[in-house]
Amino acid sequence: MAQSRSVIINPLDNDSFHDECGVFGVFGHKDAAALTALGLHALQHRGQEAAGMVTYDGRHFHSRRGLGHVADNFSSESAISQLAGDYAIGHNRYSTAGDTVERNIQPLFADFEFGGFAIGHNGNLTNAVTLRRQLVKRGSLFQSTTDTEVIVHLIATSNYVTVVDRFIDALKQVEGAYSLVAMTQDSLIGVRDPLGVRPLVLGRLDEAYILASETCALDIIGADFVRDVEAGEMVVISGDGILSLHPFPRLPRRSCIFEFVYFARPDSVMDGRSVYETRKRIGVELARESHVDADMVIPVPDSGVPGAIGYAHEAGIPFELGIIRNHYVGRTFIEPSDQIRHLGVKLKHNANRAHVEGKRVILVDDSIVRGTTSVKIVEMMRFAGAREVHMRIASPPTTNPCYYGVDTPQRSELMAAKMDLEAMRKEIGVDTLAFLSMDGLYRATGEPGRNAECPQHCDACFSGEYPIALTDQEGGAHAAQLSFLTEVAGKR
Ligand code: AMP
Repeated sequence: MAQSRSVIINPLDNDSFHDECGVFGVFGHKDAAALTALGLHALQHRGQEAAGMVTYDGRHFHSRRGLGHVADNFSSESAISQLAGDYAIGHNRYSTAGDTVERNIQPLFADFEFGGFAIGHNGNLTNAVTLRRQLVKRGSLFQSTTDTEVIVHLIATSNYVTVVDRFIDALKQVEGAYSLVAMTQDSLIGVRDPLGVRPLVLGRLDEAYILASETCALDIIGADFVRDVEAGEMVVISGDGILSLHPFPRLPRRSCIFEFVYFARPDSVMDGRSVYETRKRIGVELARESHVDADMVIPVPDSGVPGAIGYAHEAGIPFELGIIRNHYVGRTFIEPSDQIRHLGVKLKHNANRAHVEGKRVILVDDSIVRGTTSVKIVEMMRFAGAREVHMRIASPPTTNPCYYGVDTPQRSELMAAKMDLEAMRKEIGVDTLAFLSMDGLYRATGEPGRNAECPQHCDACFSGEYPIALTDQEGGAHAAQLSFLTEVAGKR
């Protein structure tokens, strides 16, 4: 029911506001599809609801898109062999609030007067609803309910001649966060929004060029890391090599700090920094800021592991696996209903009872969103006989939703937006609770602290300072969307 309503009724489909995605592209390799499948595998953590790929063989475009994991769609030889060509782009999609339907799976593909064009997007456009309304009024017929399709229509209606100029013209009209991979008949194009909120890297494999959300996707195919695509840069890769364009006014980069906290894979290097090392340093900062005596430091697996290593090392307290994770269960956060989410947590984690009984434990997790995980984990520790349970969170309190491409629930569902520290401590049921300070987080990313005048990252989820206009929210489109969401939620 919810699915048909979200598809039929409303052009402001909630999917367009909850994208956490991974993108990948190859230019000039005979195994482009197979390499893209591998790259998407490495980026699976960025999106687990659907995967898609478009290739070009010099005459025809080929595409395959499906719900589910990369392995569900691209593991067979026949799937790969149907995707002929030397260029490919691929996309992993993740949306939690809305129903994922096939027509929303990326890459999107369009036939323009200049030829075929495919696009994959990681991020979220904050004026997509507003633009979409204008485009629909002017006669655009949308095929999907993604924000990304707005870019396709802006390209179609642009008065510029070349595809690159039309693409730039389109991007100058959109607001929000985007790392894009696009493909035309003779080029692979990568773009990062003017603040570089979402990541995008350039790599090289023999003569081929690669674009990927994270460096772990270069590693899996043995490609060399060349460099980050810069904030506000468009790279156009063709038979003539790489053209680097800076079509937007230059702004200081403000990459998403939450990528370092949770979202990116620890073996990736972002903004020149190892994500794993950064997370360990976060643990070090946390131990310095909020030391407590205990017998062991226990990570909430897997996301709390690097932080707990850093914490244990700095505090001189043994690091122990006091919680064992069942790896055959997906991320709890993905489950749509509260009921399933509760069930998921129990399925996913189990206390290492023999080890924690009678002990004073420090639990380290990367973040608290709704607080569901923390409540359950602490309950589990108490049930297993832990004498004292302390919780240390490797980020500041998440008090605000992200509108730039990381899925977070609305503000009213964020535990830290509803309660102060003491109320959270009680609700979670721990002896002590502490979060990392904002400056501590910035220090862990190699900065002296947060520059209040011009923060070096986007930290809106922690600070509430949104560096890119939230036009749809401010213009009332969000209110319309929210009432629609409530309606859908009520049907579940
Ligand atoms: P919660 O139970 O809602 O407090 O979820 C907190 C846990 O979810 C954190 O420990 C993270 O590991 C994970 N998490 C945080 N943010 C996200 C996100 N945007 N998507 C998926 N998982 C997340």
